[in-house]
Amino acid sequence: MTQPLLSLSLEELTAWVQTQDQPAYRGKQLHQWLYQKGARSLLDITVFPKAWREKLADYPIGRSAIAHCRTAPDETRKYLLQLADGLIVETVGIPTEKRLTVCVSSQVGCPMDCDFCATGKGGYTRNLAAHEIVDQVLTVQQDFGRRVSHVVYMGMGEPLLNLKAVVRSLQQLNQDVGIGGRSLTVSTVGVPRRIKELAEHQLQITFAVSLHAPDQSLREQLIPTAKNYPIAKLLEDCRYYVKTTKRRLTFEYILLAGVNDRPEQAHELAQHLKGFQTHVNLIPYNPISEANYKRPQAKQIKQFSDILHKHHIENSIRYSRGLEANAACGQLRTQHQPATTSPEPA
Ligand code: SAH
Repeated sequence: MTQPLLSLSLEELTAWVQTQDQPAYRGKQLHQWLYQKGARSLLDITVFPKAWREKLADYPIGRSAIAHCRTAPDETRKYLLQLADGLIVETVGIPTEKRLTVCVSSQVGCPMDCDFCATGKGGYTRNLAAHEIVDQVLTVQQDFGRRVSHVVYMGMGEPLLNLKAVVRSLQQLNQDVGIGGRSLTVSTVGVPRRIKELAEHQLQITFAVSLHAPDQSLREQLIPTAKNYPIAKLLEDCRYYVKTTKRRLTFEYILLAGVNDRPEQAHELAQHLKGFQTHVNLIPYNPISEANYKRPQAKQIKQFSDILHKHHIENSIRYSRGLEANAACGQLRTQHQPATTSPEPA
């Protein structure tokens, strides 16, 4: 299969234009049109000779098509993007005055099956290629008409099950698209051995681990795959990550009323995280129709956060945006895809 152009670096694009009997400097032009101007076809690249452009009009670039886009009242936009093989992934653009954050998917669906997450309920189809992740960022950048400042790998999928493509996409977003390493966040629920493997890449990214429970038995209840990854081992690997990369690590903790939000659970969590260079993001649960959990009352949420503060554990409460467009954390699902369709509630 021909490699889509969006998967190539400046050097590789320069080599490619030369195989097309074009001068080397066209590689730099092509790089700029692909990664900065967001060209969707070689026909768009008006600085190229017309005859060459027309000859290669159908050459695969690797861009998806926007199948659907919905804007929430808070200006968050959720996209359904159609890939070359017809499959759909979800991407979210989250604007603030200073930032434009893209929440990207790393897989079509997800095999982890966490009990509170809509993506897992829809099953798993395949890994995304690196260029399919980069494309999501370029699509949002173009649609908003402003530069993307941050990317979070918190859409559909478990990034560490697709480590090679995820690492490649991080390098491309940094080097080709020009987004600072620290503004790229990878979030994982934990996959044995992969945290250490990621650490070896020494990327200057932000790394987040979805912990969600202070003890192994509750964690297994919420995250079935945690059975293969004892919490003590997970935390040991997180310490290794911090030591190797010399970067602070973020823990994410979803708050589910009456399940993991009790004061004694906050104390227990604090014991685990003592001495850790970390920041905890407390994420109040976003309701999904397939699960019976409830979001805790604001008072409970504040109490949990205060207890962590008393233990000197830095933390903040993160309400996710886009709730009204089903674009918030955990609400991405593959319902529009025939293979996994379940009827919409009336
Ligand atoms: N697989 C990765 C990344 C995708 S989920 C991971 O699990 O970290 C990104 C974040 O959204 C995770 O912390 C996840 O636990 C959280 N999340 C999932 N479902 C949610 C829901 N219904 N409400 C709030 N957060 C949710």
